[in-house]
Amino acid sequence: MARPTIISKTPQHLRVPPNLPLERPPFSWSQAAKELEGLPGGGVNIAHEAVDRQVRRGLGSKTALRIVRKRGPAQDISYAELSSRTSRFANVLQTLGVAAGEAVFSLLGRQAELYVAVLGTLKAGRVFCPLFSAFGPEPIATRMGIGEGRVLVTTQRLYERKVRSMRDQLPTLHHVLLVSDGDADVVISDADAAAGVRSWDALLASASPIFQTAATTAETPGVMHFTSGTTGKPKGALHVHGAVVLHQSTGRSVLDLHDDDIYWCTADPGWVTGMSYGIIAPLCCGVTSIVDEADFEAERWYRILAEQQVTVWYTAPTAVRMLMKAGPELPKRFDLSSLRFAGSVGEPLNPEAVWWGQEVLGRPFHDNWWQTETGGIMVANTAAMPIKPGSMGKPVPGIDAAIVSVGDDGHVTVVTAPDVEGELALKPGWPSMFRTYLHEPARYEKCFKGGWYLTGDLARRDDDGYFWFVGRADDVIKSAGHLIGPFEVESALMEHAAVAEAGVIGKPDEMAGNIIKAFVVTRPGIERTPALRDELLGFSRTRLGPAVAPREIDFVDDLPKTRSGKIMRRLLRSRELGLPDGDVSTLEGSAP
Ligand code: AMP
Repeated sequence: MARPTIISKTPQHLRVPPNLPLERPPFSWSQAAKELEGLPGGGVNIAHEAVDRQVRRGLGSKTALRIVRKRGPAQDISYAELSSRTSRFANVLQTLGVAAGEAVFSLLGRQAELYVAVLGTLKAGRVFCPLFSAFGPEPIATRMGIGEGRVLVTTQRLYERKVRSMRDQLPTLHHVLLVSDGDADVVISDADAAAGVRSWDALLASASPIFQTAATTAETPGVMHFTSGTTGKPKGALHVHGAVVLHQSTGRSVLDLHDDDIYWCTADPGWVTGMSYGIIAPLCCGVTSIVDEADFEAERWYRILAEQQVTVWYTAPTAVRMLMKAGPELPKRFDLSSLRFAGSVGEPLNPEAVWWGQEVLGRPFHDNWWQTETGGIMVANTAAMPIKPGSMGKPVPGIDAAIVSVGDDGHVTVVTAPDVEGELALKPGWPSMFRTYLHEPARYEKCFKGGWYLTGDLARRDDDGYFWFVGRADDVIKSAGHLIGPFEVESALMEHAAVAEAGVIGKPDEMAGNIIKAFVVTRPGIERTPALRDELLGFSRTRLGPAVAPREIDFVDDLPKTRSGKIMRRLLRSRELGLPDGDVSTLEGSAP
């Protein structure tokens, strides 16, 4: 089949003459905010914009969420139902005495209760933090400890498997609301009841469906997401209600959402994409959102696209690669003609995947870039511009992005020449920018230099103003689209009695982008057997969960370190891949 004409290089007539500024339509955040309603007293609240405003606009009976169950018919929740259920949950939080600003955590799959918990918490003016349900007990306890979780909404099964054993490490956790696993009613013993465990269903049933939205402002904290750095504990990036202005504007300008769209964001709300673009943006744009309860399965995904007549689809490169691997015959069995726009985020999207989208789905993938800290999409290939396959696109309206170089003295220089590699930086001031890392103001301040927010990503900008991803400036790992801090994995491994030291890297993988690989130095006298390797794999999987645990472990005699004792993961990685070591002047034992 001849390749369709997606623009792989901007055609001459669309090019910006070199001496003109890049063309930008007039845009201001205050103008964008006018698309929203705001609260009567002048404040802003995400849940109001996403749900109650839509009911007032006359969309009450429209399906807000269609949850495609693992088995059985889909469950439809209208905007009006979502409004009353979220009001009930807001009332529950008030009755439980959860104070404004206190944190409600969830550990749930993609099920109705998760969406109600998020939006009900925001309506009540409390802070919401979703946890990925594939996390093991340790990542859960670490994050709830840092975030001082007051309430946890989870299922009975997840509570038993992942939380109960950690409960004594969570002194701030006063209330655990158990959702039924579907096949059995929630059972709560007297001892559990005394420890604050309650039935979600019972609490919601007895709460009023009417609640006056909390008087939050644009700067009131609303959502917290944990992200990882190279060292130290995970960081709780705090976002405010005013972020909704960007969610709504990028929902329109990047995802091209229109009122009658059927939209499917495949990201789990345990990660930022599933929150900003799986919950907030689509509801703010008044569309019907598809939620798939089940995990990836190629045939199932094609079936959902076809049967639900999805018009706008937002997914991730790992999933696209898995669909590509499933072969070209499978999609031919489905009518995918409803699809109008396909977007991708989270990892580099190779040009082949863009072409494949065009050839197999009839639509090219539009890559876009952002991260937990930015709260929403910053750089994108939009429907309104030519796609350059392999590029992340251009800054979205309202966003100033640049390639900068940071000198050893911390001085930031903006690189104006095209095609020069440097750090991707953003001018602070967009509404969804994180406002702090919880309890770690110094770590937050370090992200800002010379009037720029430094993203930690290396990129280049071409002479048409498109940005191209080069790599991470640090050692964090993207595996199947999830950002993983090597330190968290190393720390868990070192809790095993046989382990003296561990170094963790991302090892390139055709499907997942990277898999987690650990290099382990054993304690003296420990025999390095295949059985010990298996035990360590199992040990870390139980503690960290499958999304975070290493998939490969090698035993080594020692780890390369800097003279100040930091593990040089970069060297572990280059040696694993048979690449040159590069600069080793800081390596311990090297000539000074
Ligand atoms: P997270 O904070 O988990 O959303 O991860 C953000 C990181 O994912 C970014 O800093 C990038 O390293 C990577 N990332 C996100 N989108 C893209 C993209 N379109 N291309 C390449 N890398 C991306």
